[in-house]
Amino acid sequence: MFHLIFSSLDSFVSAVQTLLYVDVVQPLLYRFDLMDYDEDTYDSLYWVIVGVLEVLAMYAILRPLEALRPVEQWESRRAVRIDVLYTWIAKLGILNLFFFFALQPFFDNVQGWLRLHNISNIEFDNLWPGVTTQPLVTFVMYLLVLDFAGYWYHRWEHRIGVWWELHAVHHSQQQMSLWSDDRNHLLDDLLQASFFAVIALVIGVPPSQFVVLVAITNLAQSVQHANIRLYFGWLGERLLVSPTFHRRHHAIGYAHAGLKYGCNFGVLFPWWDMLFRSVSWSREMEPTGIGDQLEGRRYGDGFWAQHWLAFVRIAARLTSKRRPGERNDAAAV
Ligand SMILES: [Zn+2]
Ligand SMILES: [Zn+2]
Repeated sequence: MFHLIFSSLDSFVSAVQTLLYVDVVQPLLYRFDLMDYDEDTYDSLYWVIVGVLEVLAMYAILRPLEALRPVEQWESRRAVRIDVLYTWIAKLGILNLFFFFALQPFFDNVQGWLRLHNISNIEFDNLWPGVTTQPLVTFVMYLLVLDFAGYWYHRWEHRIGVWWELHAVHHSQQQMSLWSDDRNHLLDDLLQASFFAVIALVIGVPPSQFVVLVAITNLAQSVQHANIRLYFGWLGERLLVSPTFHRRHHAIGYAHAGLKYGCNFGVLFPWWDMLFRSVSWSREMEPTGIGDQLEGRRYGDGFWAQHWLAFVRIAARLTSKRRPGERNDAAAV
């Protein structure tokens, strides 16, 4: 059953991939003399299609709910528009290109080197022989390992000052919506994609499952950022990260400068927050953003301004150990 869903989704995407490739992409590559990139472009097209389907599904499901049960009413949706741009860039362009043209060849080399030196990966099958014949069991194990890694990646983003300045682009949105998940500094996106791809490689996630794992995580994260008054109930809140739970993470004053440098870092499951004592179950619907925005600090309105200002903040951090008036900075690098 599980396998059937995977394979029918896969064959649908593959059919669209072939159709688009033959009718649109290949003639263009041929025309501009880029046939050397033939195979890589074909492969990356798969991810582009998955990205478009994700965005369409997310919009169709979440936008009506945002209209029906909003947490916040906005006079203008202007600030949301920039997040739509981030979403399309992340889902369609940069990450796919980076993944296929830089990361994939690098991994192939690493794999080749490991094989040459007779070093095997820490694949689950080596630890637990036969487990990979149980697709559902391995899928859940991959999901848990990647989610655990995601929790710590996110905590470090808040703990390490220089890294926080990149992540601050995500937190500076004061009108959080279904589009906000992909509002990330591109450098942070690249770091994150490499981090997860390395882990996936080390534990031996098959590429077909990796696509599904990424798609599930992305969809769940879009739900968490949506401007929807949605509480999963006492048990539900403890099983899966909800919009209420993640809104608390974005609450102004808690995101960075608060208690223990923030709370509710979990990506899919709140269990890591419960285990490592960074959880807050408060149900209060607070405004989102970064504390110093209330004091007038600007994080930029446009795409380039947001990227550039992050580098300016990093430079300031590196040149002066502590900015005057900044709270809780002593433990951050
Ligand atoms: Zn965060
Ligand atoms: Zn977020």
